[in-house]
Amino acid sequence: MKGLLVVFLGTSVAAMAAQTEELKDYLFRPMPFTAVKVEDGFWGTRLETNRTVTVWYAFKKCEETGRIDNFAKAARLMPGSFRGTPFDDSDVYKVIEGASYSLATHPDPKLDAYLDALIAKIAAAQEPDGYLYTARTIHPDNPPGIASPKRWLNDCGDLRGKYGDSHELYNVGHLYEAAVAHYQATGKRTLLDVAIRSADLVASVWGPGKLEIPSGHPEIELSLIKLYRVTGKRAYLDLARFLLECRGRGKGIPTAQYANHKPVVEQTELVGHAVRSVYMVCAMTDIAAILGDEPYRRAVDAMWIDMASRKMAVTGGLGARHGGEAMGDAYELPNAEAYNETCAGIANALWNHRMFLLTGDGRYLDVLERVIYNGVLSGVSLSGDRFFYVNPLASNGEYPFNQGHRDRFPWTGCACCPVNIARFIPSVPGFAYATRGRSIYVGLYLASVAEIPLGSDNVTLRQVTDYPWSGHVRFEVQSDAAGEWELKLRIPGWAGDKPVPTDLYRSLGSTAAAPVVKVNGQAVKVEQTQGFAGLKRTWKRGDVIELELPMRVRRVVANEKVMADIGRVALERGPLVYCVEGADENGHVSQLSLADDAVMTPERRLSLLGGVTVLRGRAVESVRREDGSVFQRPAELTAVPYQVWCLRGANPMEVWLPRTADKAVPLPCPTLASESKALASHTHMGDTTAALNDQILPSSSGDGSIPRFTWWDHKGTAEWVQYDFSKPSKVASVDVYWFDDQGKGSCRVPQSCKLTWYDGTRWHPVTNASGTGVLKDTFSRVTFDPVTMSALRLEVQLQPAFSGGILEWRVSP
Ligand SMILES: [Zn+2]
Repeated sequence: MKGLLVVFLGTSVAAMAAQTEELKDYLFRPMPFTAVKVEDGFWGTRLETNRTVTVWYAFKKCEETGRIDNFAKAARLMPGSFRGTPFDDSDVYKVIEGASYSLATHPDPKLDAYLDALIAKIAAAQEPDGYLYTARTIHPDNPPGIASPKRWLNDCGDLRGKYGDSHELYNVGHLYEAAVAHYQATGKRTLLDVAIRSADLVASVWGPGKLEIPSGHPEIELSLIKLYRVTGKRAYLDLARFLLECRGRGKGIPTAQYANHKPVVEQTELVGHAVRSVYMVCAMTDIAAILGDEPYRRAVDAMWIDMASRKMAVTGGLGARHGGEAMGDAYELPNAEAYNETCAGIANALWNHRMFLLTGDGRYLDVLERVIYNGVLSGVSLSGDRFFYVNPLASNGEYPFNQGHRDRFPWTGCACCPVNIARFIPSVPGFAYATRGRSIYVGLYLASVAEIPLGSDNVTLRQVTDYPWSGHVRFEVQSDAAGEWELKLRIPGWAGDKPVPTDLYRSLGSTAAAPVVKVNGQAVKVEQTQGFAGLKRTWKRGDVIELELPMRVRRVVANEKVMADIGRVALERGPLVYCVEGADENGHVSQLSLADDAVMTPERRLSLLGGVTVLRGRAVESVRREDGSVFQRPAELTAVPYQVWCLRGANPMEVWLPRTADKAVPLPCPTLASESKALASHTHMGDTTAALNDQILPSSSGDGSIPRFTWWDHKGTAEWVQYDFSKPSKVASVDVYWFDDQGKGSCRVPQSCKLTWYDGTRWHPVTNASGTGVLKDTFSRVTFDPVTMSALRLEVQLQPAFSGGILEWRVSP
């Protein structure tokens, strides 16, 4: 089959190499990112914040943390040793990429000049043969941290265990993406030439009979393909494929964590480090498209099914586990413990865009839209300078799930996510359209004007919409193109009660209403194929097409194999997943349950969280009485879009709400303990100090069915828990129900415990303490001389090699 011209990313860019071959590429052609100009609306605000805040903020942080000086030091423009981690170079490249996308649509002399100066430093840091990795260039004989003394050899780990994975190839992969973006945005070759020198070096070192180790962190593969498209140099495409082919051949660390356990064409499941595997499969999808490689195509199809059917959070997030930032097993989709790294969400969007371009099937755009609006946008605050690395689906408001923070952080040592946001947000307009032949596919609905290449013509289309708050989208044809062409409107799966294109999540009950399509005010009947409604006409300037998508509130439930979501429901409207936050519910959420027949009503709140539509309705809250029994009472419930959660301070949050009251955790009855604030020297991520005073009583010390507090994974240490009383209170005894999971885990009753009290200035031991205090399977009571205090602390010494915990802690006057 005669293929398309190789170079299509950015029609303004001509192939530079003379020997451009006729190779296939994606059947569906993406839009050059420069061709879609976003106009105000939802994305206008997000893009403007990224352009004016995030990009500059990230550059400033790169300066403050020495990331940019590392290039100057490598270039011997300034003295000093390397600062940070060797993969920090990639952060600078990612911000350049994001800045370039912004520059393409918003000329900005200040930013342009900043990039020129920065690129000059990067070029000066490159060694004469093209090698670019500041940590080694600054310290050629003894590079720090994860780098080995010899170039490249431990890019995929060092089997002797002496060094970590160096990220040498990962770094330059992001350099190539930045270089292509900067070249396309400005026409300047400064960074592109640096990238070409680097890629030529890598191409001279890797190959059959030469170096045959895979990349430790895939990224260079997909970026070499971008470099190939811009330069037309086939060697880069071949190198990308060769690097993929090195995987699973026993070289480098041969583990699933590195997606290096099997040859790529034999991989059928998405496993290991989430970002690594999805970047890898992005490049594989490119190879399947460009080389028509059937085994690659079968492997990416299999991995997509595995991901979308068994491993994707309802927000589109990937990577269930904190440990190894890894994909979980099938249906291992926890809520509070979920990792869902922002970078993995971005990777999922990039992959699904490729899958759409490969097939033209709208189901991939359903996943793309889901992850962008939920699992990616949650990664950055509306202010553009606070970030989530980790995106859980529930929080108790206490645990610092986000790399030690309970809310979005201003920056972090490993800054991959903030800088990935900086480059991804401005690339979103590039997902809005694709073309094939004389058909224009609308992938995302966003207020914009686009110049869409259609054969020898250009079609100018304006989209006017308040999506995702409204389901109404108006297209204005603003140019005359000769002959017929077809506008293909994406009808999202959620509009037809299919939230995802698999059975991982489904709508509860039917809310579907047929989308309405009008041409020049007249309703028309449209056929839907592969998720698109097609309108073929000889369109003329001034024609108006309108789409009305049903924006009813939908209830979504998970496949029953997802243990964490059994008996729970998530609320959605349009492409948005909602959540309930303590900020709207007097500080607590887990006492709430939402009956299937409770009516939820959308309500636009222009002054809330940047202007959102909330969902309001009547829920039920469970409350405990003094005698321990539980009763229910009606409660107002307000749900907010997940993407803007945690903007009102750290607080409890749930995406998945109990459908019945028995799944809710009752609010405790007011007591001295329940009215106090519980603190601990350390709390395990999956546990909570709220368990100390929640009045849920265990059947034994090993009761695993109720919320608990543990000091896990601290073992053999001295630890404490503490009640801060709301006012000075008299206390004379405590009752502690210790957690002890002997036979199952490594928590035991502590070796010893003692009580101290706080008078507002200093701590004192209690006097005349009684009782052993460390009994199992019952409350351990300790009495002491009554004293009025502002806080009480229970100090423990854990048994050697064991951790410990508490199921309930009462205090009495
Ligand atoms: Zn990240």
